[in-house]
Parts: sequence; structure tokens; C-alpha cells
Amino acid sequence: MYGLNDPHRQPYAEVLTRLGVSEAAGLSEAEAAARFQSYGPNALKRVAPVKVWVVFVRQFRSAVVMLLAAAAGFSAAFGDFVEAVAVVVVIVINALIGFFTELSAVRSMEALHRLGTVSARVRRGGALKEIDAADLVPGDLVELEAGDLVAADLRLVSAHKLACDESALTGESAQVSKHTAALEDDATLSERSNMAYKGTSVTRGSGAGVVVGTGIRTELGAITKLVAEAKDEQTPLEKQLDALGRSLVWVILVIASGVALLGIARGKEIVQMVETGIALAVASIPEGLPIVATIALSRGLLRMARRQALVRRLSAVETLGSASVIFSDKTGTLTENRMTVTRLDFERGSATRSEDGTWRHEDRDRGSIDEALRIAVLCNNASISSEAGGPWKTIGDPLEGALLLAAVEQGRDPFDLRRKSPELREEPFSSETKLMATFHRTGDTPGPFYVAVKGAPEAVLSICTHTLHAAGPQPIDDAVRESWLAKNRALAGDGLRMLALAFKHPPNEDARPYSDLTFVGLVAMVDPPRADVRASIEACASAGIRVIMITGDQADTARYVARAVGITHEDKAPVVAGRDLRQPAALSPAEADALRAVNIFARVSPQQKLDLIALHQAAGQIVAMTGDGINDAPALKKADIGVAMGQRGTQVAREVADVVLKDDSFHSIVVAISEGRIIFGNIRKFVIYLLSCNLAEILVILVASLLNSPLPILPLQILFLNLVTDIFPALALGMGEGDATAMRRPPRPAAEPLLPRRYWKAIAAYAGYIGAATLAVSFLAHGPLHASHETSITMSFMTLAVAQVLHVFNMRDARAPFLR
Ligand code: ATP
Repeated sequence: MYGLNDPHRQPYAEVLTRLGVSEAAGLSEAEAAARFQSYGPNALKRVAPVKVWVVFVRQFRSAVVMLLAAAAGFSAAFGDFVEAVAVVVVIVINALIGFFTELSAVRSMEALHRLGTVSARVRRGGALKEIDAADLVPGDLVELEAGDLVAADLRLVSAHKLACDESALTGESAQVSKHTAALEDDATLSERSNMAYKGTSVTRGSGAGVVVGTGIRTELGAITKLVAEAKDEQTPLEKQLDALGRSLVWVILVIASGVALLGIARGKEIVQMVETGIALAVASIPEGLPIVATIALSRGLLRMARRQALVRRLSAVETLGSASVIFSDKTGTLTENRMTVTRLDFERGSATRSEDGTWRHEDRDRGSIDEALRIAVLCNNASISSEAGGPWKTIGDPLEGALLLAAVEQGRDPFDLRRKSPELREEPFSSETKLMATFHRTGDTPGPFYVAVKGAPEAVLSICTHTLHAAGPQPIDDAVRESWLAKNRALAGDGLRMLALAFKHPPNEDARPYSDLTFVGLVAMVDPPRADVRASIEACASAGIRVIMITGDQADTARYVARAVGITHEDKAPVVAGRDLRQPAALSPAEADALRAVNIFARVSPQQKLDLIALHQAAGQIVAMTGDGINDAPALKKADIGVAMGQRGTQVAREVADVVLKDDSFHSIVVAISEGRIIFGNIRKFVIYLLSCNLAEILVILVASLLNSPLPILPLQILFLNLVTDIFPALALGMGEGDATAMRRPPRPAAEPLLPRRYWKAIAAYAGYIGAATLAVSFLAHGPLHASHETSITMSFMTLAVAQVLHVFNMRDARAPFLR
């Protein structure tokens, strides 16, 4: 395309020219639309919408329809045309019902597929836009940053410390550093370090690239070679239902033919008995089981999506319903991630903020304040703006936004500071080191270079050799470090999120960032707990679900927030820090139990999350785990339910997660679990209802045949019951809002089948009641009441029909008081 053989060999400017795109403005929308027409969507698998007629035709291929057709033919052969026509009508109605239920399931599934798409940031028509990755076309300029999935093959046009994980494509696990320069002719795929390929992910840095291949015309497309239709996997639940349905078909066919033969042997009319056998089989084969389950699941998922929880796999719903432990991170999930700096502490003096945004400086040391605010502004990727003198708005990491705001409130001009000290490079924040550094060129003394560092207080203090006094940097010793750490702990104990600031003037710009630094002071910020979290955690408690906090923040802050939201009620709740965590294999059983009892983990690394998941899984728990970073991906996979954040989360985390929370809120996890329980409960209710009604019908006919008494219901009536009283009420149960007690019970054991023993007993009992009532009415009518044959049949039919309708209300809420 566009004569672009091996774009890695050409300078990127040439690639841009060939693709007819300007680096500053990107493609125009009109040009992008035209290219979309010729290249099609950027997707490997095409999810073609299922055609309506295919769904319709499918309805006539079932065993039930064959049986009904046989019944119609049989009636016609014996000259019973009314019956034959009636059965044909039944076939049509049956097909229509099947058609609409299945169509609804198919459409819900398609709606779900559309929800889970990946997006890309592109430059088009001079503006940066977020579009669906499927809409990318050759020539689009795509921006990349750490955590993004590369959505198409790109020739890089800019790269700042950019590195990608290409293991999905090349099988090599080491991350590959990227640049923009043209390469030798014979560079292999894994050596093409000026390209970023579809299906790989950005592990650090940032950059941009121009799209040179989309869809199957990518390296990933070439190795996949599968332009297959995306196929929906059956969930374990659907499989269980399918298996149940299949085995029931045989049981029912045996019973139905037995009943027919028995009747004939007892001298009943052959035609009537064959029809009864067929009607029985038709009525009791639970052909709708898997499809209703699919509808119930997919509708439930759409309902969850409306309530901010996007479930990415149908089968995750079942697991959600049995979740017993939730590991939640703190910032943004339990708290609002709306930060405000409230305090700065220096070697001499401090600054505190009052509610209205004014600052009070105690024992002012101008040098320290200046230095602190300079670091706060420079070591910072957020930006700030205000419209026509209105309030300031920050864009980017809320923590960094809060730092900018604190500088503005204290009269500094961030734009001016950044202009005077342009950034040369950045050492991005990593949750392993808990540090971030930026390198700058400055005009002022004592040298042309400046390194600004911010990070977790203990991490920053451990790499500082001096502290800043009014007279300038003074050597630091352990006593000074310890006094700063004590101050840090005291502030953290009040729930404040803590940072430390440091700087240096290195002789050259290649210096290592994290050594020989001068400590400037501490920054304390508030991040209020989310208002709805406390209620959600109480809901978990009554639902038998434990909530455990795993945070990258420090112990004292974590404990304060855990108490504020109700994870613990103790003042001195134990907190285990990451550095004290040992491999699960190294723990004695008693130690493992003790660790399982802990509710708060602080300064935990993403790797340690894996160990904690394993620890609880080993005790039979079903674990849900939240995560947002690239490093969280393994933990999200390992957890039974990986929960990623829709706003804060990286694309990588969202891609591997089972559930994505659109609003990042803990409350939405609880909503998802409650919906998961309701959906499973509904499907169970629906199955129990359907099976007990069908069994009742079998019982009635079987007993009547065995006692050689007149049949209480006619074949056509059985078919009528199958259509009218079985399907709609059963659907209503399957779709319902569920009973209010769903979250007042302990979680369902994960290994429990859809219908454990006690439910089979219940099915037998319900069928027994309904069958006995129908038979009793039939005997009464024929015996003491001396009713005519027609009247008796009408009476028993009505009894059976009304009993089945009442049974729906009985099933709606199994635990409701009798009169309700
Ligand atoms: P959680 O894991 O619950 O989201 P967290 O956001 O505090 O908690 P991390 O993001 O791993 O966890 O941050 C750990 C620590 O690193 C913070 O307590 C803070 O001191 C420091 N920190 C956080 N963000 C930055 C940043 N952008 N630059 C420098 N230091 C940071």
C-alpha cells in the first residue's frame, strides 16, 4: 500500500509523505473516511451480524419440531384434520417464540461485543481525538503512552523512552526500546525498533507513530491468518444446561413411549396414545434451556454495563456470583482520587492551606518554599488551565494536578517556571521505586542542569545525602532521616497521602537521577474517601464477602482510610507491609492463616499481589482483584475475577480484566457481584420452574395411564401449556430483577452445580403437589361430581394451568413469607 515496502527502512518523513499525511495535523476526517471505505475496519476477526433469516430457519431444525411434525402427519393420516392443523399452528407459534427469544439473545450478545472495544488517540484535522481502534486507517497519526495497546502497525515518528512488550508477536519476553531512525534493510521483525506493531503493548515512555498497516494487513494479521468469525464460547453454565437438556431428552423419550405403550396395552385408543406420547415428549423436552440462559446472562451484562460495570466475558458472571474476597486498591477506588495539597513541611518552617485555598506560612524560609514549588511544577506531567479567569482545572494525574494547584495558589506561574527550565528527559514514576525524576536545562546557578525528584518519603530520604537549610544544603545523617520519617508517619496517620521532594544540580545531563540528592521537604495531601464506599463495604459484610485493602501507599495512610470506609473497625488494625511479605511456600500453615486474617496491606508491589491471591485461593476463596497498571496484568489474570479501572486503568489492564469499572468506583464492584448473584439465581429459578412443570405433566399422564383411568389432559392441551404457561412465565423468572435477599446470603460455593441435590428434591416435590392436585380434581370430577368427560378434562386442565401460573409466584422469591 502506498509503495510502502518495509517502512522501517525509510526515514519517517518519507513515510509520512508517501502516506499523504502532515505530522502536525494528521489526516482530515474526509480523507480518513475515504480510506476507511477502501481498507475496511482495523480488525482481525470480523463479527458479522447474524442474519435474521438464519435465526428463523434454525428454529425448524430442532427435535421438538420434528416430533410435532410427526404428530401432525400422524393425525392427518388418521383423518383427524382439526388436530393436524392445530399442531401445525403449534409448530408455527413454537418457531416464532423460539425465533424472537433467540434473536433477542443474539442482539444482546452483539451489543456486548460493541461495548468492549479498544480505543486509540489519533491526530486528525489538527486535533487530538479518541476513536474506536477499529476505525484506524493507514496514514492516521496515533499517540502512544505506557500502558497502551498498539492498535495497528505503526512507523514511529516520535519516541521518548518508549519501549514495547512484543512477546505476543515475537515470543521474546524482554521489552524492546524504540526510536525513530531508519534501519538497515535486513532487520528482522524483532530488530525493527522504529516500528510498533499491532497486538504489542507499550511498557514505558511515550511516542507517536503513523499507521502503515491495519486489520489483517499487519504483522499480527499475517501470523494469525485467521479471518475467522469471532465465535462465542459457551460458558460453563450454558454447557451444564446443554448437557442437562440432552440427557433429559432421552429420559423423556423413554417415559413418553412407555406411557403411550402402556395406554395402548390398557386398551386406550392408539391414535390418542401416540399423540399423548408425542405431546408429552414435546412438552417436557426443555429445548429452551441454553438459550434462555444466554438471554439471562447477556441481558444481565447489559444491565451491569448501564450501572458502570462492564463484564467482558459471559462466564465471568457465574464467578462474580460466588466471589468471596475482594482485594481493592485504595486510591481512586475507595477514595475519590481528587487530591488537594494541604501542607508543606521544610527543615525550617511549614506552609498550611485553609479551606478557601489561601496559604499560611509559618517561620518562612523562602529558599525552601521556592525550591519545593519549583520541583512540584517541574517533576510533573499534569497541566492546568482556567477559562476566562474561572477556577483552575487540572488535566492528568490528580496527584500531580494538586501539586500544580498548590504552586498557583502560592503565587507561582507554572508556565513561566517550565519555560525557564525546559525538560530534557524524564525518569517516569514507577510503582517499584516509588520515585519520579525529570532533567532540566536551567539558566541559573550553580550549573546548567537540574534534576527534580518526587516520590514516597522513605524512598526519597534513602537516596538523599543533604537536606536544604536556609543557609543551603547540609549533610544528612540517620537521626535527621528518622525525624523526617517520624513526621511523615504522624501526618500519614491522619490519612494524608505523603510525598517528598528533592533536587540536585548534576554536572552533565546523563547523570543517574537517584543519588546525591538534596532533600527539600514533605508534601501532604488529602484524598477524601468516596461517599458510597462505606455502605458498599457493609453490603459486602452482610453478603459474606471480605474486603481487603492492597495499596501502594504507606501503612498509616492505609489504616486511616481503611477505618474511614469500614474495612476495619479497630484503631490499631494490623497492617502488613510489602517488605514483610514472604512467598506463600515459605509460610507455615499457622503463618498462612495469620496472614489470611489481615485486612490491610501497604506498599505492596504488583508481584506480591499474585502471592496474596494464591494465598486466599489456596483456602478455597474466589478472589476478585482490582488493578490499573501494566504490572497489574498478571494479578488480574490470576484472580478469579480481574477488575480493571475504566478511567485510571491502562489499556493493558483493561484488556486482561474480566470486569472493567467505568467509574473506577468500589461501589460498582459490589453492584456487579450482586447482579452476578441475581442472574445465576434467576437462571436456577427458571430451570427449577420449567423442570417441575414438565415433570408435573409427565406425572399426571403416567399415573392416569398406570391406574387405567381417563387421561386428565389432552395432547393439544399439553402443547398449549408448553407454549403459554411454560415459556413466558419461565422467561419472566429468568429476566427478573431478582429477590432482595441476594446480598444477604453467603456466596455460593464455586464448585456447586447449577442444580445440587436439594433442588432436585424441590423439583420432585413441586411436581408432586401440582400433579396430585390435577389428578385429585380429575378423580373428583369423574367420581363424586359425575361430571361429563369434557367438563372433567376442562377442570383438570384448568387446575394444572392455574397451578403452573401460581407456581411462578411461588418461585419468584423462595424465601418470601407464605402469604406474599
Ligand atoms: P493504590 O495502590 O491504592 O492505588 P497508591 O496510588 O498510593 O495506592 P502507588 O501509585 O504505587 O500507590 O504509589 C505509591 C507511592 O508513590 C505513593 O504513596 C506516593 O508517595 C508515591 N507516588 C504516587 N504517585 C507518584 C508520582 N506521580 N510521582 C512520584 N511519586 C508518586
